[in-house]
Amino acid sequence: MATPVRPNPIGLSAVQLRNRMIVSARRIIVEHWLRVDRCPVCGCGWPCPPTVYAYDYLTSVGQGSWTPPGHVLGRR
Ligand SMILES: [Zn+2]
Repeated sequence: MATPVRPNPIGLSAVQLRNRMIVSARRIIVEHWLRVDRCPVCGCGWPCPPTVYAYDYLTSVGQGSWTPPGHVLGRR
């Protein structure tokens, strides 16, 4: 009798969770990306604390040099 393939009860694999964290870290960086010389969300100098936190995470997964692609920025 074949073993039925069941969905993962946890829902997300470790890789999927990691990818989600990367996506949200990138979103934070895009939202807080500097306009001229300061963060548009926090109003303080850049990098602001959320950006530092997001970059800390990206650095921990080897993507610390990531920057938002140009088409994401400056279009709002
Ligand atoms: Zn900010």
